[in-house]
This record gives sequence, C-alpha cells and structure tokens, in this order.
Amino acid sequence: MTGLSDSFQRPINYLRISVTDRCNLRCIYCMPPGGIKHLPRSEVLRYEEIQAVAQAAASLGINKLRLTGGEPLVRVELTRLVQMLSRIDGIDDIALTTNGVLLRQCAASLREAGLRRVNVSLDTLKRERYRRYTRRDRLVYVLDGMAAAKEAGLEPVKVNVVVMRGINDDEVLDFARLTIDEGWHVRFIELMPFANGASLQFVPTKGIEERLRSLGTLEPCLSSQGSGPAKYFRFPGVKGTVGFISPLSEHFCFNCNRLRLTADGKLRPCLLSDYEVDLKTTLRRGASPEELKALIQQAVAAKPERHHLMEGVFPMGRAMCQVGG
Ligand code: SAM
Ligand code: SF4
Repeated sequence: MTGLSDSFQRPINYLRISVTDRCNLRCIYCMPPGGIKHLPRSEVLRYEEIQAVAQAAASLGINKLRLTGGEPLVRVELTRLVQMLSRIDGIDDIALTTNGVLLRQCAASLREAGLRRVNVSLDTLKRERYRRYTRRDRLVYVLDGMAAAKEAGLEPVKVNVVVMRGINDDEVLDFARLTIDEGWHVRFIELMPFANGASLQFVPTKGIEERLRSLGTLEPCLSSQGSGPAKYFRFPGVKGTVGFISPLSEHFCFNCNRLRLTADGKLRPCLLSDYEVDLKTTLRRGASPEELKALIQQAVAAKPERHHLMEGVFPMGRAMCQVGG
C-alpha cells in the first residue's frame, strides 16, 4: 500500500526520470535551433545515483517509472539502467518516452532488460515536414523504430502527437485513420507554452474531436496500459485507440500522481512549476536511504494543487527537453 500522498490527498506512485538533457532532434516547440547549453557530464546523475533515488522512492510507494530525456536513447548503455531499475523491489512498470530515432538498435535489448512499453513522439507523417519541424531528416528511422518496438513486444506502442495550429493540425485525420487501418494507439496532446514554444498555437481537444467526427463516432474506452492523464476512445470495432491529453482546455491536475527527476538530480513536483528539490548534493555527500526519502517527501509535500497556464503563468527555469515532458 502506498505511503505517499500529497497535501491534496493525491496518491503519488509514478516517477519520471530524465536521464539526459541531450537530444538528436531539435523539435521547434522544445528546443532552440542550436540546441541548449548542455549540462557538463559531471552534473548528470550516474546510473547508480538514479538507482538510489528510485530505490528510496519505491520504498515510499512509487511503483511506476518512465525514462525520458532529452532523448533517453542517446544516453550510453541505457539498457544497463533499465536492468538496474527492474531489480528494485516494488517497481512493477518501467516505460520509455522516446522520439524513436534509435529504437531499432535497442528495442530488443531494452525489452530483455525489463522495459515494458514505449511511447513514441511523432508529430507528422510527412517527411519534409518532419525534417522542417525537428530540424533533422529522421522520419523513416522513427517508423522503423516503432516496428522494432512492436516486434520486441514493447506494446502497446503509443504515438504522442503534439498538435499545433497551422503546423500539423491538418494531419489529425491521417493519424486517426491509422488507429482504424493499422491499430495504432495515437494520443493528441495540447501544446503547452514552455520557454521555446511561445509563438506556436495550441489546438484545443474539442477542435480535434470535431474534425475526427467525419471518421465515425468515438466510443470511450479504457487504456490497455497506463494510468496517465489521457482520455481514450476508439472507432467502433477497431483495435487502435485515440487518446486526448488536454493540459490546457481540461487540466487533469486533480488526478496527478507523478514526480519528475531531472538529469541533474532535481526532484520536480510539478512539470509546470519551477520549484525543485535538490537531491544531487545530498546524494554526492553519501546520502542514506532515510535522507533521500525525507527529500522525496519534501517534494511531495510541496506539490502544487494545479498549474496556472491558462492564467499565463508558465515555467521559465528550464526548456521542456530539460524536464522530460
Ligand atoms: N525525446 C523524447 C521524446 O521526444 O519523446 C522524450 C522527451 S520529450 C521532452 C517528451 C514529450 O514532451 C514528447 O512527447 C514531446 O512531444 C513533449 N513535448 C515537448 N515540448 C512540449 C510542449 N511544449 N507541449 C506539449 N508537449 C511537449
Ligand atoms: Fe528532443 Fe524530445 Fe524535445 Fe524533440 S521533444 S527536441 S525529440 S527532447
């Protein structure tokens, strides 16, 4: 039974771990064209340090982990970390959020190490558009990486699509058709105004739902895996699902069950607030599990009730690629 709950009685059982701030893409809403100033390697948590945090978190009731980045697959030997985390008592689900570019090379070994599922971020199905908005020509690698993930049994592969007005919103029907024709699991995400995406416009979930009506009636369904903020639907009789994640038009803070660990060892109780608790300093002083647990509890106690994006308050401290989504 979990012992972790915050000041608003929300049970906290999920830790997202950013393993690097580096990335092999430059998505327009996430990174400036030249990338960000990277953390020096000495500032990035070592795998043993991440393991110590996860262990302390698990002893408090965290049972789900997700690895993210930057791009997690650019970190050397990620498989070793997955193996280490999968041996922790109490952890029963390890998942990965990736841009998919490097999935083909490592899907099978990650599965063997204990990874259960992957989410792949893919905002367009058009090669030239992909190149323009990620600033790299890698679409074919992503599609092949998704196939590799399925072959390796990392299922369901969920596809995250951040919808931006005038950029890729004309493709929502194409993505939705893939849930019918190919059994894809597609989640449409409202763009959040983070440091780099200020000039881009989000499309509210309602607007996307209206466009999808031309394909049939969406029936509510449960996600086959996961306990996140998405609401799931499917077109009658098909295997694939359509999910909506609506942080702006219908915030889900009242159900939030997560903490985030940044690559440089800060524990962040809310994606959309700059408040962080420093774990790294204590870790490097040779923290005991009890000390780590106290810091985790401090972060949980400081978890805000909700974000204030719609009131124009958004985090300024880090780019999204430094938090991990
Ligand atoms: N590199 C990996 C990837 O792209 O999946 C993991 C890190 S990325 C920061 C995690 C997720 O955050 C991706 O699905 C990405 O689309 C999403 N994301 C980044 N910036 C965003 C923004 N401003 N609003 C909404 N989602 C965003
Ligand atoms: Fe990299 Fe992911 Fe950010 Fe794109 S969304 S720049 S793939 S970290």
